[in-house]
Amino acid sequence: MKVILAIDLGTTGNRVIAFTADGSVAAKSYYEFPQIFPAPGWVEHDPFDILNTTKKALQDVISAVGADSVVSMGMTNQRETTLLWDKRTGKPVHNAIVWQCRRTKPICDRLEEYSGTIREKTGLPLDPYFSATKIKWIIEHVDGVRRGIEQGNIIFGTVDTWVLWNLTAGRVHATEPGNASRTLCYNIHTLDYDEDLLEIFGLPRKIFPEVRESSGLFGNTAKEITGREIPITGILGDQQASLFAQGGWEEDVVKNTYGTGLFLMTSTGSELQTSGRLLNTIAWKTDGEVCYAMEGSVFVGGSCIQWLRDGLKIIRSSAETESMAASLGSNEGVYFVPALTGLGAPYWDPDARGMIIGITRGTRREHLVRAALEAIAYQTRDVIEEMERTTGMALKKVRVDGGASKNDFLMQFQADILGAAIERPVLTETTAFGAAGIAGIAAGFWSRNGFFGTRKVERVFSPLVDEKRADLCYSQWKRAVKRAMGWVVD
Ligand code: ADP
Repeated sequence: MKVILAIDLGTTGNRVIAFTADGSVAAKSYYEFPQIFPAPGWVEHDPFDILNTTKKALQDVISAVGADSVVSMGMTNQRETTLLWDKRTGKPVHNAIVWQCRRTKPICDRLEEYSGTIREKTGLPLDPYFSATKIKWIIEHVDGVRRGIEQGNIIFGTVDTWVLWNLTAGRVHATEPGNASRTLCYNIHTLDYDEDLLEIFGLPRKIFPEVRESSGLFGNTAKEITGREIPITGILGDQQASLFAQGGWEEDVVKNTYGTGLFLMTSTGSELQTSGRLLNTIAWKTDGEVCYAMEGSVFVGGSCIQWLRDGLKIIRSSAETESMAASLGSNEGVYFVPALTGLGAPYWDPDARGMIIGITRGTRREHLVRAALEAIAYQTRDVIEEMERTTGMALKKVRVDGGASKNDFLMQFQADILGAAIERPVLTETTAFGAAGIAGIAAGFWSRNGFFGTRKVERVFSPLVDEKRADLCYSQWKRAVKRAMGWVVD
């Protein structure tokens, strides 16, 4: 039996899965690691927690399948999270600053005049989310880092680069274009770090990892860690990996991950199509060809269900929302705009706040539950409409994954509201599957179609209501959103 290993470096934990040629799971292991919150809005990880949980999961899976059966391994990672370390000792100079961390908002404010240039060159807004201002923060706040950089000892990496560097015993300092495109220092037109951007952020080029193709040999793991040297043959960012696993290189296909938030992505092929309301980014580069993508992140997706459970305490489990929502024939006019942390794509309104409207004497908790699930579907349509407007695509299919995609009511309602088919695969660990795919293709284990052919569809939801009715419900949602926007005043 031969397998490809996928290392899935997530935000809350690290997972390793061994996939056989027919796409089934031969072994897996997962370890959570602690989240560190040093101040409100700040999030860190201990770099050695990331590394040690990865090694442990790797060793579990390798000992289950046998080192000799591993053909190669691929990695996928939480993106943008920033690490700096001394390449002589392997010692990080600071904890990893996680993508969610908002501490660099003041740096972004300072650089506001460059936001147009940054958007144009990187496809991204100037925001604390991305790596550049996090690197700058570490340089400005940690003693000796500036000197260490000048002397050529301190280097930067996102989580893929940190783990790759360590698994190869410090021999390889590299990343791939999808991850590089989230640093704010990488020009997505020229496919290189950009001198103007480096100057804006005051960052020297030499700290950045070499950017290689997403699929191909990055290096071999050290024998001490994995029992024998194993080639690492592919890296993708987490959302990119999910897109890859869902066959996202096909036209007119959108993938949507229904997790805490909603992460929608569609590829635009070799052509970069820009929308000011969505993120323009690189999906991957393989065989000399770059594939661009458009991404829309909605801040509150499944987490509004969590809020009903833990905040309002009107449900006991997220699973029971399915039958509660289905017990009503319609929302009976109740809409919930879950702008609990402002609104992300495509509205970008930090001052919006959550709102429930249309309440009457007859409103019960079932209405709130249904309105929350419907809101997930409406927010998805908001992003997809923006994608359609920008690319001119005619959406055929949404391929879904993530915890809340298990909800049949939500999936059927999504199909109805979009007027498009919703396709749910059997395997919901799509990020890991995508990492295995990109690595397995480079290793000659699969062809691209052979890999995608192993993906099994569990269920397809087709629209059951007519378009007119769907549009009517949706236009009412848009009215509700308008009322929730700009709510916060200083
Ligand atoms: P993440 O990877 O972002 O932590 P998951 O993909 O594990 O998230 O999805 C978990 C989210 O999905 C939670 O916010 C939870 O409330 C929601 N969720 C899980 N199961 C269901 C369900 N059956 N119906 C609706 N929401 C659900």
